[in-house]
Amino acid sequence: MAYDRDVGNSSSQAVTRTSRLVSPGPTPIPPEVAEALARPLLHHRVPEFRRALHNVHAGLQELARTHDPVLLLGCTGTGAMESAVINLCAPGDTVAVVAAGYFGERWVTLAERYGCNVIAVRSEWGAVPDPEDLARALDENPSVKVVFLVHSETSTGVILDLEQFGAVTQARGVLLVVDAVSSLAAVPLETDAWGVDVLVSSSHKALMSPPGIAILALSERALDAADAAPLPRYYLDWAANLATQRRDEPETWFSATTSLVVGLEAALARIKREGFDAVYARHVELGRRCRMAAKAAGLTLFSPDDDSASVLTAVRMPDGVSSTPIVQAMHERWGITVADGEERLKGTIIRIGHLGYISQADVDLAMEALGGALAEYQQLGTRGVA
Ligand SMILES: *Cc1c(COP(=O)(O)O)cnc(C)c1O
Repeated sequence: MAYDRDVGNSSSQAVTRTSRLVSPGPTPIPPEVAEALARPLLHHRVPEFRRALHNVHAGLQELARTHDPVLLLGCTGTGAMESAVINLCAPGDTVAVVAAGYFGERWVTLAERYGCNVIAVRSEWGAVPDPEDLARALDENPSVKVVFLVHSETSTGVILDLEQFGAVTQARGVLLVVDAVSSLAAVPLETDAWGVDVLVSSSHKALMSPPGIAILALSERALDAADAAPLPRYYLDWAANLATQRRDEPETWFSATTSLVVGLEAALARIKREGFDAVYARHVELGRRCRMAAKAAGLTLFSPDDDSASVLTAVRMPDGVSSTPIVQAMHERWGITVADGEERLKGTIIRIGHLGYISQADVDLAMEALGGALAEYQQLGTRGVA
């Protein structure tokens, strides 16, 4: 049942050796990505690296269904989110944020830090945002320049209807910035057709790679707006980064995360080989399996009980049970790493990821471990599992 009881000691080495990532991010990496990461380090100004960089740009454009230039930054998704605010906004600008969870609130915080007047179009955490609410907010506030939203809200498991939100912003000529950190390579995403001006993603969710590469796709409209935006910026300046990239011999402005880029190249090749539609179908299938197991165990779902919840499943804890010691017990004693709730949801839900390289066996083991940890908790109380 528990696949490796030996991880019960506190040695981090033991946990490193055996703990399975069944979390919504970071996610496990396939063998060919591990192999690519282990190759001798490349310099960032040699043809071999330029080729890899080119392949990653092309692969991401194909996956995200866009002709926009792709820009990679040496940071995680949040760095790309911050770059969107400073390349598009000025202090005093009015912007709108669709927020229904922890990552939606991150857009609110970022835009406020840089002095924007933020109109937050909020729904309850766990609710599915309604494009009509955004349409109303934009009609009431015609000065809004930019809309920020989260395609897949990883704190709740909710995926919004991006096509409909894109129709709302396109009809009003407002820039649309989308956090697609946990949706890209998990669910269909039509960057160009849906009118996404800035796509933000990250290497370590459905893209089957380690954390460390932030991804942007930038429309011409977004780049024009960036030309006019007055906030000072350097490392995160889109135009300066793209200027280096667009030379005859494309390069990165600064030392690239070369090994990670080569790893991402392998991951994208794998995703393409499987086929994008097959990849999306696999996510839906794993979501179904996870929800079925949760319900069979008598647990209540927090994430939606339908096929839209294909990135992760969030389950509520039974009355009187905190998710925090359960997550800890699953990690320490079953060698399974899942995620607690974020912020106000901490202690109340457990999030099981089924994106990227996470397999059916991973999901099954996670549900088994969850059942075991809950049973022990309910028999013994907190003392028994901590
Ligand atoms: C993981 C995640 C982020 C960014 O997190 P980083 O740790 O900075 O990569 C942002 N938004 C969503 C929806 C995420 O899932």
